[in-house]
Amino acid sequence: MARQFLESKIVIASHNEGKVNEIKDLLVPLGISVISSRDAKLPEPEETGSSFVENAELKAKVAAEISGLPAISDDSGLNVSALGGAPGIYSARWAGKSKDFNKAMHRVADALLMSGQYDKKAYFHCALCLSWPDGESESVEGILPGQIVWPARGNKGFGYDPIFMPDGYIETFGEMDPEKKHGISHRSIAYKKLLKKCFPTK
Ligand code: IMP
Repeated sequence: MARQFLESKIVIASHNEGKVNEIKDLLVPLGISVISSRDAKLPEPEETGSSFVENAELKAKVAAEISGLPAISDDSGLNVSALGGAPGIYSARWAGKSKDFNKAMHRVADALLMSGQYDKKAYFHCALCLSWPDGESESVEGILPGQIVWPARGNKGFGYDPIFMPDGYIETFGEMDPEKKHGISHRSIAYKKLLKKCFPTK
């Protein structure tokens, strides 16, 4: 049986404000008090894993060990079929040191153009990891299929949201109200699995 979350406070092991806000929106209604890595002055570990789950585990374990509190982390990214799954686990790095996602979105569009393929299929992938200070952890994953839209549309959300349109919708994530995105996103798919696994009484 998976380990159950019985505590009342958690660290969100992320320095990405967009992700911190989305995870906060999910946890606060459960009556859990949350602090971010930035609030807890935790370092941003290097993501040396070779999968989303490995990177999520790495981030949550470091945050739990240093803070002495349970920690939740998210490792996620955009996978474009015609680019062999890129940028994938390198999604944040495609934005460079300045974290310029305008640049990263252009890079996706240019790479797609250069590939000479008409296939715009893509999906967002999210791995969530819950880790305890004793080193134990539980991970789950969520995938949301869609397609790349160019030019980018909308200025809501964060990261690659303006160039991703989920299957079955006519708006990009950049055009969608946050509540609507939160209801269907790769993150919420993973989160629902985590709730079932580790928070059954919530
Ligand atoms: P990492 O998980 O810190 O390696 O960063 C993943 C990167 O993937 C983020 O910086 C975003 O650029 C991108 N990403 C992950 N989830 C989303 C999302 O919901 N919308 C837009 N971009 C996302």
